[in-house]
Amino acid sequence: MSYDNNNIFAKILRGEIPCKKIYEDKYVLSFHDINPQKKIHALVIPKGNYIDLDDFSEKASPEEMVGLIKGINKVAKKLKISVDTGNGYRALANISEHGGQEVPHLHFHLFGGERVGKMVE
Ligand code: 5GP
Repeated sequence: MSYDNNNIFAKILRGEIPCKKIYEDKYVLSFHDINPQKKIHALVIPKGNYIDLDDFSEKASPEEMVGLIKGINKVAKKLKISVDTGNGYRALANISEHGGQEVPHLHFHLFGGERVGKMVE
């Protein structure tokens, strides 16, 4: 499967669709989920065109990998849900069909601001 340039997150990255931005740097963009499932529901996406975590693991540079992981931590700090600024959170990436991924651009969901509950329904 090849990357779909017209997926909704690609459009957000190009500025064609607005988002409620939380954080941005060279490697990541973070914004609030349009349909929040918890008090805080943020998305963190790499700026590169990667379909999912497997694609990212195979093709991204070490700098992009570090950038994404660090980006998640920066967003968590900014939202005051990181271990040092708050009470923790859940980071979750859905991967492809069985993972329930809807948007084919790699993204991590960050859920927090309250107890997140059971890991899998
Ligand atoms: P997935 O199921 O692919 O892991 O998650 C996709 C997420 O993207 C969903 O939680 C959904 O609410 C969110 N989403 C879909 N379209 C938009 C949009 O246009 N803007 C924002 N901010 N979030 C979106």
